[in-house]
This record gives sequence, C-alpha cells and structure tokens, in this order.
Amino acid sequence: MFQCDCCGLCCKHLAESDLYRELDRGDGVCMFFNEETNLCDIYENRPVLCNVDRMYELYFKDTFTREEYYALNYNVCKQFKKEEK
Ligand code: SF4
Ligand code: SF4
Repeated sequence: MFQCDCCGLCCKHLAESDLYRELDRGDGVCMFFNEETNLCDIYENRPVLCNVDRMYELYFKDTFTREEYYALNYNVCKQFKKEEK
C-alpha cells in the first residue's frame, strides 16, 4: 500500500494539475481539506484521483509495476516537501 505521511501538501497544490480543478476552492487548496486537522474531510470517500492504490489498479497497472508507480508518486511528494522548506 502507498505510504502517505499525511503532510497534506498534495491537497494544497491542486492548481498544479488540471485534473484536480473541480476540487480547487480557488487558491489551489482542496475544498475538502481541513486546515485544522490537516486532513481530508472525505478521506473514506475521496475521489479516485486522490487514491494512489485505486488509480494504479484502475489505470496504470498495465503500464507500470506497482513499485514504479509508487516511485513516481513519492517523487511528487518529495518535490512538494522540498518546495515547502
Ligand atoms: S504529499 Fe504525499 S505524503 Fe503528503 S499527503 Fe500528499 S500523498 Fe501524502
Ligand atoms: S479530496 Fe481529500 S485527498 Fe483529495 S485533494 Fe481533497 S482533501 Fe486531498
């Protein structure tokens, strides 16, 4: 399973991808992101787009190994963390 440390950074950088436009509350932060808890308010029912494991199963398993797909996603996490410093 994809290992997320719940830093919340991906949910605050939606403007970087058109795929997440409908979730963007207007400033790049997701309308379902809870700034008090730093967590997703609809986590159990979050869109497939926000679920790395589901995205892999549904769309990417014929293209990448699971490890490759995780590595691509971990790189995005790493980039967000680097930019945040
Ligand atoms: S940036 Fe990565 S580690 Fe942080 S919340 Fe998003 S998926 Fe999890
Ligand atoms: S729906 Fe939840 S997991 Fe998806 S971007 Fe919004 S806050 Fe993050």
